[in-house]
Amino acid sequence: MPSFVIAEKCDGCKGQDKTACMYICPNDLMVLDREIMKATNRDVSQCWECYCCVKICPQQAIDVRGYADFVPMGASCVPLRSSDSIMWTVKFRNGMLKRFKFPIRTTAEGEAVPDGGYTVDQDDLNNQLLFTEPYSVGTAELPALKK
Ligand code: SF4
Ligand code: SF4
Repeated sequence: MPSFVIAEKCDGCKGQDKTACMYICPNDLMVLDREIMKATNRDVSQCWECYCCVKICPQQAIDVRGYADFVPMGASCVPLRSSDSIMWTVKFRNGMLKRFKFPIRTTAEGEAVPDGGYTVDQDDLNNQLLFTEPYSVGTAELPALKK
């Protein structure tokens, strides 16, 4: 089920030019109604339930109903981010609460290296190797079928 905004919790990110959910949505779905200062998902059919908006919202005002392979039907999942971990609070239909806390980074903030530090000398998009191969699999050359 696509994301939806819990109106009572949303403060419109206090009217900034771009709200946190607008900034993060990879599909550009979140919009802010400046008259009522509430955000909405403008095209739920295009939402792929990536949870980015759910995780970034500073008011915990966005929810996505999880599929049954993720949480039992009807449960809600609310994240709480800190600088080094994320805590998910799962509320089951019978009211039971469970909390799961995970570390979110092994690299200090701002220190991530986009190419992972690998020497990448291939720029051919048609190349069948993945971006950092063969170095990322610990070899100088991948075995290939002889033609
Ligand atoms: S990030 Fe949260 S508080 Fe900010 S506009 Fe979006 S839903 Fe509202
Ligand atoms: S769940 Fe992902 S795709 Fe859907 S509105 Fe939020 S950020 Fe966009």
